[in-house]
Amino acid sequence: FDVSCAPVLNKHNKVRGIVVVFHDITAIKKLENTRKDFVANVSHELRTPVTSLVGFAETLIDGAIDDKELRDQFLHIMLHEGRRLQSLITDLLELSKIEREHFKLQLSQVSLSNVLDSVLFMLKGKAEAKKIRLSHLQGNEGLIMGDAFRIRQIMINLITNAISYTPENGTVSVSIHERKQEADFIVADNGMGIEKDQIPRIFERFYRVDKARSRDSGGTGLGLAIVKHLVEAHGGRIHVDSELGKGSTFTITFKKSPSLIG
Ligand code: ADP
Repeated sequence: FDVSCAPVLNKHNKVRGIVVVFHDITAIKKLENTRKDFVANVSHELRTPVTSLVGFAETLIDGAIDDKELRDQFLHIMLHEGRRLQSLITDLLELSKIEREHFKLQLSQVSLSNVLDSVLFMLKGKAEAKKIRLSHLQGNEGLIMGDAFRIRQIMINLITNAISYTPENGTVSVSIHERKQEADFIVADNGMGIEKDQIPRIFERFYRVDKARSRDSGGTGLGLAIVKHLVEAHGGRIHVDSELGKGSTFTITFKKSPSLIG
């Protein structure tokens, strides 16, 4: 609480009483703390790959460059860390753009299933590299009013996560189910799953259930925060069903615009 006091005087300038105002600043403080945490998190996330890049460059200059095997190994690590920095910066810029108040979707009639097909085509190789069966289950077309570019981003993030958090030889199935007023986009995997009490937290910026695993798979910890914003901008909602060790199902529900409800 923020407290301020002021005396109440009578006409002879004598104190008659005191007015005490309690101002509840919990929300302001919370916002301030969130902002401070975010800056601290960003700094930490950026520092880790930069420290590694500088360290390996120094070791190369100090002589490791003459050892071909060591040099190749170090350069690969540096490339990996550089790429991590690149995706982190891309995601940070993206998040700051979509969190702005004047952020606007470019709305048009979108076929969820068309967007999904192009996303699956793009992610085929990633799934194959992990021997994961990535399949589009029979469903509907899912015609909605939406921003095709942003819907593509939502799909890429969710399917990439499903592939990342599912062990080799697992399965990831995606589908679209249209109802009268809504259309669902569903991604189901039979991977590691998420503990119940962690589910609400995974949408927070930089929150990861397992930091090391997320980093190894190239994760920035921002993907689901971006997804949440984009889904909300569409007036949609997200539902997660998950069981530890069994797998997870992410369902995104989009509202159909009145003109598309038959
Ligand atoms: P990251 O870049 O770490 O994947 P996200 O914001 O996309 O960041 O996800 C946050 C965390 O949620 C992940 O680090 C992971 O712990 C968990 N998570 C997301 N999707 C899945 C999934 N399909 N299965 C299990 N855990 C998941």
